[in-house]
Amino acid sequence: QTVANDPKNIRVKLVLLGDSGVGKSCIVLRFVRGQFDPTSKVTVGASFLSQTIALQDSTTVKFEIWDTAGQERYAALAPLYYRGAAVAVVVYDITSPDSFLKAQYWVKELQKHGSPDIVMALVGNKADLHENRKVSAQDAMEYAEKNGMFFIETSAKTADNINQLFEGTGIYLYRNKT
Ligand code: GDP
Ligand code: MG
Repeated sequence: QTVANDPKNIRVKLVLLGDSGVGKSCIVLRFVRGQFDPTSKVTVGASFLSQTIALQDSTTVKFEIWDTAGQERYAALAPLYYRGAAVAVVVYDITSPDSFLKAQYWVKELQKHGSPDIVMALVGNKADLHENRKVSAQDAMEYAEKNGMFFIETSAKTADNINQLFEGTGIYLYRNKT
C-alpha cells in the first residue's frame, strides 16, 4: 500500500478513525503544526496535511494524513475514506468507555474491509485527563495486542506521546515490509 518506490523514503496514506470529539483533529494539528487550539470547534473542511518523519536508519516516512470533516458520523462513507490507507489510527478518549467501544467497532470494520496489510494503531487520547480515566490502559493494551495493533496513550493538549505515535507507526510499517 505504499505509494512510493524508493524503499528508503516511503509515502503512505494515513487515516484517523474514532468517535467525534475524541481529539483526532487535535492530534493531527499537534503533530503537523505543533499547536493545540482548545477553542477550535469542528474540523475546518476535510483537511489533508502531510508530515515527514525520519527513522533511525536514515529512512523517512511521509504521512499523507486524511482527517475527516465529521464523516465519522456516517459509517457508510467510511470505506471511501480509508480506501488505500496503509495506516489507520483508531482513536478513543480515555475518559469515555463509549468511545473505546466505538474504536473496537472501527477495528472490526477495518479488519473486514480495509487493506489486508493495513497497519493499525490504537490511541487512547486525552491522557492529561487521567483523573477522569474510565478506560484502563491495561484493557486497551490487551485489546491492541490481540488485534496486532500498536498501542499508545497520547495527549494532544500537552503533546505527550504524539511524536511517539507516528514514529511507532512508521516502525511498524517498515517491519511489515521487510
Ligand atoms: P475530533 O472530533 O475527534 O476531531 O476531536 P477534536 O480534535 O475536534 O477535539 C474535540 C475536543 O477535545 C476539543 O474541544 C479539544 O480541545 C479536546 N481535546 C482534544 N485533544 C485533547 C487532549 O489531548 N486533552 C484534552 N484535555 N482535550 C483534548
Ligand atoms: Mg475532527
